Amino acid sequence: MNVLVINCGSSSLKYQLIDSESEKVLAKGLCERIGINASAIIHERAGGEKVKTEVDMPDHTAAVRIVIEKLTDESVGVIASLKEIGAVGHRVVHGGEKFSEATLITPEVIKEVESCNDLAPLHNPANLVGIRSCMEIMPGVPMVGVFDTAFHQTMPKKAYLYGIPYEYYEKYKIRRYGFHGTSHDYVSSRAAEILGKDRKDLKIIVCHLGNGASISAVDGGVCIDTSMGLTPLEGLIMGTRSGDIDPAIISFLADKEGITADDVVSILNKKSGVLGLSNGLSSDFRDLATASEDGNEQATTALHTYAYRVAKYIGAYTAAMGGVDIIAFTAGVGENNAAAREEIAGYLEYLGTSVDLEKNKIRGEEIILSKPEDKVTVMVVPTNEELAIARETVRLVQ
Ligand code: ADP
Repeated sequence: MNVLVINCGSSSLKYQLIDSESEKVLAKGLCERIGINASAIIHERAGGEKVKTEVDMPDHTAAVRIVIEKLTDESVGVIASLKEIGAVGHRVVHGGEKFSEATLITPEVIKEVESCNDLAPLHNPANLVGIRSCMEIMPGVPMVGVFDTAFHQTMPKKAYLYGIPYEYYEKYKIRRYGFHGTSHDYVSSRAAEILGKDRKDLKIIVCHLGNGASISAVDGGVCIDTSMGLTPLEGLIMGTRSGDIDPAIISFLADKEGITADDVVSILNKKSGVLGLSNGLSSDFRDLATASEDGNEQATTALHTYAYRVAKYIGAYTAAMGGVDIIAFTAGVGENNAAAREEIAGYLEYLGTSVDLEKNKIRGEEIILSKPEDKVTVMVVPTNEELAIARETVRLVQ
């Protein structure tokens, strides 16, 4: 079956058409600047070149229509007609407490997702627009929602509650949810598979280090803790997000700068992290590494502060699980940035592990970095959220 995987943002739409039998990507692409001027689609079929076409996309429905046009186009397409799409898998960011696994989309499910909009105001409405647009253009094709929060729903209360009055959890569902769940699930099961073991017998820490970054503790196949919280702002230091801070900073800074609490939260989301720590130099780890090599002290500090936070979380999750068997790195930084991995691993020798510096130079591949005799296996497992969404979609549709 061909599965169309859709990841819809407020002004963008990423897609992949995956053949679920071979698990090959037949075509993929991105619609950008939807609803803004100069919108364009960048489309690529397997083995072909990326082609960018400027095309008017006033809304997401127009974008979905153009995606279908590209997929069925005589020269750049890969299917003859819409009929060759067996199902659509949608990434949905927030499923609240309602969704602990992927689900077939029905009008009731849409209502439930809508009720989580409050918790992810930037993401969920955009995800829903993508779902509705696909339903309009592909009536009758089964749609599945795969939630970023679902994998973390197994967290016990002691891990997901904040130390605030319990009534706020009851009234507003203020608790830790966690994100990147599809990636944490995929990477932890793939890590076990690579070692020829059953995930149920392992304690795994997954470090998803991308622009957004989160870390999770997967014990016996289920998530028992993760670093992101009510929103994706908590936890690790990220590209532009602060991660954990003393919440009193919010009113303190608002007062000092004469701005609102919302303004401060926006600074914590968009101008903090390694971008903020490097004095606004860059949120991109490649730029920071270059600057650091050129002697930029703030860039060096940003990179050290970032790695230190990751190492602290690994320690915390090792304690939470009473040990660890595998530490797996994934996402843009985790898969490609040898320096970050080396620095983080430098903190982990007490666990009885090491990183082979030669192997650590390899980028973007499944690789075991530790020695066979080490007590803890450190490895790189490139994430594949689209494939995970396609698998879930097929599982539900069949
Ligand atoms: P997201 O999906 O959260 O937007 P990614 O997982 O694509 O983010 O990760 C983006 C990050 O990965 C960027 O900070 C970038 O610097 C880093 N990255 C990508 N490739 C490399 C590389 N070759 N070397 C170092 N860092 C890299």
